[in-house]
Amino acid sequence: METLKNHPKDELLAAYAAASLPLSQALCISVHLEHCSECTQNMHHLHQLGSELMHNLQPAKPSPELKNKLFEKIDQISISAAANVKVNLPTDDANQSLPRCLHQFIKTGYEDISWKRLSSDIQSYELCRDQNNAKVELLRIRPGGTSGTHTHMGDEYTVILDGSFSDESGLYQQGDFLVRNSLDKHTPVATIDKDCICLAVTEAPIQLTGFFGRMLNPLIRRSYA
Ligand SMILES: [Zn+2]
Repeated sequence: METLKNHPKDELLAAYAAASLPLSQALCISVHLEHCSECTQNMHHLHQLGSELMHNLQPAKPSPELKNKLFEKIDQISISAAANVKVNLPTDDANQSLPRCLHQFIKTGYEDISWKRLSSDIQSYELCRDQNNAKVELLRIRPGGTSGTHTHMGDEYTVILDGSFSDESGLYQQGDFLVRNSLDKHTPVATIDKDCICLAVTEAPIQLTGFFGRMLNPLIRRSYA
């Protein structure tokens, strides 16, 4: 693992450890953890702290009714259902950068995805929506391409899966984790060596700025609906 410069904030890591994040944000953290030894170490400490806290709690005695209901529920769970869960592992050696936590969405690799063209520079592929309707998608920016200068109407979470890009704040590489909000205006540009592929979560459509950008905004909003 490389040393990364851009990590999730401690509050986000703590919420992930407590399993209280929506699916979209949890996916971004999971991808980052596959690349970041520092946050993996922090996560280990958070789990240790959590188990110590649980250990020191005085257990409440359940009522007989609650106990019976719980045992009934356990009986209803079919063990065979869990045994039938299959994980499709990508077979293409060229896609080693595909994180394990995305295998359930991407069967073989980035090249076999039905990418949707957003502009001459960008393609997208929607993976899912979470319980809050946040959009979880992959974005592929061609070498040297840009997504255009934009602002946000909600928070935007990005993790770099492959390649790298830069904006006004610096250079971001594989595994880097970024959060942008409505106060941020930026112009991401992919580096010229290869495609930059990101996992992106948006809570609302981005707002392009500039004359041509403003004309494209209605199209972007329509693709979000
Ligand atoms: Zn980290």
